[in-house]
Amino acid sequence: MDCSGCNRCTEINCSLDTKCQQLDRSLMDQWGAISFPIYQTATFKHPGFGETSGFAYTRTQNPTRKQLESIVGYLESGRDAIAFASGMAAIATVMELFKPGDHIIIDSDLYGGSIRLFNEICIKNGFEYTAVNLSSEDPEPFIKENTKAIYLETPTNPMMNVTDIEKISRVAKEKELLLIVDNTFMSPYFQNPLLLGADIVIHSGTKFLGGHHDTIGGFVIVKDEDLDNRIRFIQNTIGAGLSPFDSWLILRGIRTLAVRLERSGENALKLANYLKTNKHVKKVIYPGLPEHPGYEIMKKQARGFGAMITFEVDSAEFARAILNNVELIYFAESLGGTETLITYPVTQTHADVPADVLKKNGITDCTLRLSVGIEGIADLICEFNRVFAIAEKETA
Ligand SMILES: *Cc1c(COP(=O)(O)O)cnc(C)c1O
Repeated sequence: MDCSGCNRCTEINCSLDTKCQQLDRSLMDQWGAISFPIYQTATFKHPGFGETSGFAYTRTQNPTRKQLESIVGYLESGRDAIAFASGMAAIATVMELFKPGDHIIIDSDLYGGSIRLFNEICIKNGFEYTAVNLSSEDPEPFIKENTKAIYLETPTNPMMNVTDIEKISRVAKEKELLLIVDNTFMSPYFQNPLLLGADIVIHSGTKFLGGHHDTIGGFVIVKDEDLDNRIRFIQNTIGAGLSPFDSWLILRGIRTLAVRLERSGENALKLANYLKTNKHVKKVIYPGLPEHPGYEIMKKQARGFGAMITFEVDSAEFARAILNNVELIYFAESLGGTETLITYPVTQTHADVPADVLKKNGITDCTLRLSVGIEGIADLICEFNRVFAIAEKETA
């Protein structure tokens, strides 16, 4: 591994596990605080006329945010990471790179909030979109003269469609399009799209990076200097940056990213196999199952299969009975934390997605999504045994 340009340690070829512990030493203070301080200040004193401490105003930049950005950029192998007040603020800022008349190809299955942004805000700003299932369709026939970018998630939220990032990046390069990948579901621990040819990586930092369901944040990571400058300019202008305290929470969350994801991923595989054995479960969609159509691509482009499982039960009543009876597992929106959450996409994460789009993507009132946490797997299985038994009785 190449350690050049790293401000952290010397002469160590770091694994990602170690990288999660390595702060940017160039930012550390004279006291040597191991827990990086929260610089809770709006503004910074100038040493003299025409001089700067490196910081001027927290909307522009703050030491705590900078430390966080440094480690996220390091984990994603980017030249820079830019921290936002939410994942949606990150995506909305990236969309400000485009102008009226520009055309973007988006994956047909995306986080519901992203679809809402494209449908309700970006359209109003004069962008055109074509939704393509990039896991199975070739984007090339959809590229037009005014096409500027391809935007995707892999695996997608919630249907877990897997797209070959390298393959799409070859098309994007040839046609001079930006390839934007929302890497939230994998986190930088399992997948690094910039190394597979993407130009821009997005994260909801609320999810695996933060890891504790206690804060909202987002990231944009880039490798190109010009893109970096443009996105920083937009962020500063519209004021979408992450606060010092939230930066600190995500910085702390990242310390345990590796161990959390190892455990969640192990639990998810075991739970996916367990779910398959229940007669009310019609389909289990987890890309770590060899029968998943994206399994081989995942093995090629990622270091794990993640902690997200989508499954389908045999009736809406059964799905609702599960949601009404979980106790150890929480019925809540969001994902990527230490606790296992169960989500009902049709009324939660994807409530604002038009019915025809839901139908086309295969999201129904029988679809449930699990974000698997780090609990003991025997307890998670025991919880499902209990909940399935009650649901069976209630729907009999
Ligand atoms: C949650 C999520 C977002 C939005 O992030 P927020 O932090 O909630 O604004 C974007 N993309 C994906 C894949 C998500 O799961």
